[in-house]
Amino acid sequence: MTLRSTQPPEPIPILLYHAVTDRPGPDLATWSVTPARFREHLDCMRDEGRTPITVSAFVATPGQELPERPVVVTFDDGYADFVQAAEEMAARGLVSTLYVTTGVLDGSPTIGMPSAPMLTAGQLTLLEALGVEVGAHAHHHHHVDVAPKSVARDEIRRPKAILEDLLGHPVVSYAYPHGSYREAVREQVRAAGYTSACAVRNAFSSVADNPFSLARLTVRDFTTTDTLRGWLRGIGAPLAPKRELIRTKVWRVRRWVAAGPARQQARRA
Ligand SMILES: [Zn+2]
Repeated sequence: MTLRSTQPPEPIPILLYHAVTDRPGPDLATWSVTPARFREHLDCMRDEGRTPITVSAFVATPGQELPERPVVVTFDDGYADFVQAAEEMAARGLVSTLYVTTGVLDGSPTIGMPSAPMLTAGQLTLLEALGVEVGAHAHHHHHVDVAPKSVARDEIRRPKAILEDLLGHPVVSYAYPHGSYREAVREQVRAAGYTSACAVRNAFSSVADNPFSLARLTVRDFTTTDTLRGWLRGIGAPLAPKRELIRTKVWRVRRWVAAGPARQQARRA
């Protein structure tokens, strides 16, 4: 056995943004960065020699064929301010992956999402032309890991069908609402025809990460450019464990209990 084979894989940051705006609503503030901060982050990626790739490129490419220092930039939910962020990235030749909750395209979110203007269906083709990979992020933004199987199935398959109809090509990337998943849901995502799914986990991903529960690092309003620089250098967060943490299991049980009435209602429906 060589020394190389015993070394942990290189940490690869998959960044998770939500909104990029100067004026977030009160319930979106902590999930937002300002455009000025976002530009600093993009400068930092360049200064650290990181090459952004899409999630699909990350999971499709064997490790040895990845760019030398990859970073994956993702955005969840589909807020209207993403257009400006995508234009900033396109001006620098940078790509990203956007996960859209299809039930709130053209409207205001209501289920477990901050209230804010959302992207329109018609903007998605334009965003693809800017180098954005469009992925699915459920239809109603339900916790698919504690939802009845039929609800989870709909949350996984319906946004894929809607987006494929809008874009005219396969949509192969999925992100779990709230980052929550479990083994059975991971299998449902795979069976639906996706090639990857992003979780959260607040850890570095790597070529050894499970492509159906990719670890991401959440960028929040308090995430300084210094913190981001550390992540781009592979420090300041753990490497994603392969097994689920106990605290993740405890969190799921709590949400399963809290979702009791809705679960019973869904069974009746
Ligand atoms: Zn979300």
